[in-house]
Amino acid sequence: MARDENCIFCKIINGDIPSAKVYEDDDVLAFLDISQVTKGHTLVIPKNHVKDIYETDEATASTLFARIPKIAKALEKSFEPAGINVLNNTKEAAGQSVFHLHIHLIPRYDEDDGYD
Ligand code: 5GP
Ligand code: ZN
Repeated sequence: MARDENCIFCKIINGDIPSAKVYEDDDVLAFLDISQVTKGHTLVIPKNHVKDIYETDEATASTLFARIPKIAKALEKSFEPAGINVLNNTKEAAGQSVFHLHIHLIPRYDEDDGYD
């Protein structure tokens, strides 16, 4: 599985940087975002290092997206949000700041003020 030694998310996968894990298997890791836009904001990443959605092949995308319902339901159980946003930022122009593909799961609450 590809890793990039300079990539912060590869370091999280390797355990060199600590994270609050939500879910893990051989191919996918989900962990709480360090800067939560809402309670339970989680990032889901493939263990295979790919930069963004443009670089992602079907096998990596299938494996990653297949896990999303399970992880979203785990967040629903833990945090009891009213809904959830599922999103990806690809390239700086779209707000990407870490260049290892990640899906944001952002639980939404009736009382939240939205996010940027
Ligand atoms: P992007 O802006 O690329 O779509 O999202 C990157 C996300 O990674 C941001 O929401 C940011 O808070 C999060 N992040 C950056 N560095 C770390 C880290 O070291 N640990 C964790 N848990 N999240 C991080
Ligand atoms: Zn990486």
